[in-house]
Amino acid sequence: MSAEPGAQSHPAEKRLIVLSGPSGVGKSTVVASLRREYPDVWLSVSVTTRRPRPGEEDGVQYHFVSDEEFDELVAQDQLLEWAQFAGNRYGTPRAPVQARLTAGLPVLLEIELQGARQIRETMPEALHVFLAPPSWDELVRRLTGRGTEVEEVVQRRLEVAKVELAAEEEFDTTLVNTSVQDVCDELLALMSAPKV
Ligand code: ADP
Ligand code: 5GP
Repeated sequence: MSAEPGAQSHPAEKRLIVLSGPSGVGKSTVVASLRREYPDVWLSVSVTTRRPRPGEEDGVQYHFVSDEEFDELVAQDQLLEWAQFAGNRYGTPRAPVQARLTAGLPVLLEIELQGARQIRETMPEALHVFLAPPSWDELVRRLTGRGTEVEEVVQRRLEVAKVELAAEEEFDTTLVNTSVQDVCDELLALMSAPKV
């Protein structure tokens, strides 16, 4: 028995978007704005061994865990990807992402370069978006101006940023973060666009 052309139901869209870019470029700002404006957009909440910054809440920006708890998550294969970044570890809990994708709902991951590379290997259907600063000087201004890290950590993050900027070509598309609003709109369009 063969189905008529066009009679088959389309598989639910499952669009996985990976948003990456150097520290200080504005990823968290963009994501926070996106969540405020479009509460339906689902963003994976990562686990991290980093301490919370003022204003950060456990379970909102991150699940803040101890080194031992992170070890346990890795040992139990509960992370879709994870990486060491500027002295701390960060990872994406596997189960909630897979549940969303299985339900055909879009998923947004905001992760750094090594994690993005792991996702490219394990989930080749993902769309990789690079968030770029308008210029190097502006990136330095943003990272320094945020005032959340001591000078040594800022320098460490800027060193990593050079490596991350050099990897832009690995990404499917680049959005330049000049206007947070524009980036949010562009991201939303990418999340809801049919896959080609
Ligand atoms: P990331 O999450 O990529 O490390 P943040 O979202 O913390 O970066 O942003 C770093 C700093 O840059 C913050 O002080 C933020 O307010 C500022 N910022 C973010 N986007 C813009 C923008 N489009 N224009 C000017 N400043 C911005
Ligand atoms: P921050 O300490 O500034 O919140 O984040 C540092 C870096 O870790 C950022 O580039 C951020 O995108 C990245 N990051 C956050 N969560 C994850 C994650 O789950 N996995 C990976 N690989 N990187 C993450």
